Amino acid sequence: MKNISRSLREIRSGLSSGKITCVQLVKDYIENITEQKDLNVFISLFDEEALKKAEEIDLKIKEGKAGKLAGAVISVKDVISVKGKKLTCGSKILSGFETVYSATVVERLLAEDAIIIGKVNCDEFAMGSSNENSYFGPVKNPVDKERVPGGSSGGSASSVAANMCLLSIGSETGGSIRQPASFCGITGLKATYGRISRFGLVAFASSFDSIGIFGNNNYDIALLLEVIAGTDDRDSTSSETKVHSYSVISSENFSPADVKIGYASEYFEEGLDPEIKEGVLKKLETLKSKGFDVKEISLPHTKYVIQSYYILTSAEASSNLSRFDGVRYGFRSEDSGTMEEMYVNTRSEGFGEEVKRRIMLGTYVLSAGYYDAYYRKAQKVRRLIMNDFENAFREVDFIISPTTPNTAFRLGEKIDDPLSMYLNDIYTASVNLAGIPAVSIPCGKDKNGLPFGIQVMGRKFDEAGLLKIWNDISD
Ligand code: GLN
Repeated sequence: MKNISRSLREIRSGLSSGKITCVQLVKDYIENITEQKDLNVFISLFDEEALKKAEEIDLKIKEGKAGKLAGAVISVKDVISVKGKKLTCGSKILSGFETVYSATVVERLLAEDAIIIGKVNCDEFAMGSSNENSYFGPVKNPVDKERVPGGSSGGSASSVAANMCLLSIGSETGGSIRQPASFCGITGLKATYGRISRFGLVAFASSFDSIGIFGNNNYDIALLLEVIAGTDDRDSTSSETKVHSYSVISSENFSPADVKIGYASEYFEEGLDPEIKEGVLKKLETLKSKGFDVKEISLPHTKYVIQSYYILTSAEASSNLSRFDGVRYGFRSEDSGTMEEMYVNTRSEGFGEEVKRRIMLGTYVLSAGYYDAYYRKAQKVRRLIMNDFENAFREVDFIISPTTPNTAFRLGEKIDDPLSMYLNDIYTASVNLAGIPAVSIPCGKDKNGLPFGIQVMGRKFDEAGLLKIWNDISD
């Protein structure tokens, strides 16, 4: 295993002083990827191309023409398009499918000289909390190989934690960046809905989906955010809100007396691992002793988060996934007579169990007789949950909670119990229902040495605030 620096600042100073080269850096990452194949992280590796790009960037560095992200080697969750490459979404149904265009985020990364080293494993169509729903098999947690890395962006989290790349681009619908970041002991940012273009991200639940970042520190994440955030003509939900110089802001500190931090009592109730509870409460005490105004708040509709999240996202998924029919993309069942049989057989054979469960649940809650009782009701609850946050953010600037109720569980432990799997999203899914930004920052380890994160939630479009408060939370 190569001991590669986990900081872009350090890597860049090595590159500019000539101590290392991009080519060597990529070779080192490839060695780490090859040596840890058993973690099952990469679905496609772009080794040759990455080395070629590294040569070009080394030249640009010499000429003083390199972009902001020179030296950043990045993996991309395989639900995001990279032109000319396979796009699997962790599913059999996309077998053999290659994309003809790149996602906006990918274009923006490449324009600043990032190197994309490959596409990483994930739960099928980003549905899951353990990466066990992938057609390509589960990813293992590098901290403990008997355990899950979290999901759905399990490959992204493992790739960064196992030092196979510096950063990773993942996606979130209900916690898929923050939860695996917490399980693998790294950091993850989910930006405000609309902050980062979704163009080129395969849709799961369009009113929830957002692209986000895994990394090792706030500066690296801030710099990447600065590059990929911002409006995009190809995504009508992308926002025109100003993109700040996040990387500069990430080195600043708040004066504690100006900042109010809330913690919701509902996030510390039954079901929370006592060691995590203690770790997060201790952190709150430290913040208090630094002079921050820390107080208890209430998010009264928290108990409806999981129900409304799973009703609404399944409804949206059932519609979004109707395009995978054996005609337009990838896999088609050979065993088909009529066209209808072809649709049915393709979808029955091409989708995994969890995806089918969601399509059926989603179709059910949208059906004429049940629409009002489930879908419409869940929409109303979503509004109440948004209101909870709006009210809370009138009182405080940030809300802190655990990221997950438990540390990484064992592979196979929850796979036959969807409800207990869904309950993993209890502290994260509310953020996606409300569309606000949040980060997970490493907070501590339990008695088995398993990491857990602390979650910080902010007002809409206050990514800058999250990156700044980070400095007081992580030290
Ligand atoms: N675990 C959640 C789910 O299965 C979140 C997934 C996600 O954020 N993509 O829906």
